[in-house]
Amino acid sequence: MPLHVTFDPAKCQGYANCLIEAPEIWDFDEDQNRAVLRLTVVDDRLRAKAESSARCCPAQAIRVEEPGP
Ligand code: SF4
Repeated sequence: MPLHVTFDPAKCQGYANCLIEAPEIWDFDEDQNRAVLRLTVVDDRLRAKAESSARCCPAQAIRVEEPGP
């Protein structure tokens, strides 16, 4: 089942942990010093990486959720 990834840029502190955990999902804007979400929906192949990027964000700016019914 696909997972939805959401991101609050206002909370992002630019630690780039998300990018290190999941470069397939995240990019980084050096000028703005914050992450850029590349994929808002990820499949099972990237599930573990999406969850670990959310877990490792010190600013809790990332949410990974199952889609609603
Ligand atoms: S880990 Fe969190 S605070 Fe760091 S760049 Fe990614 S979203 Fe921003």
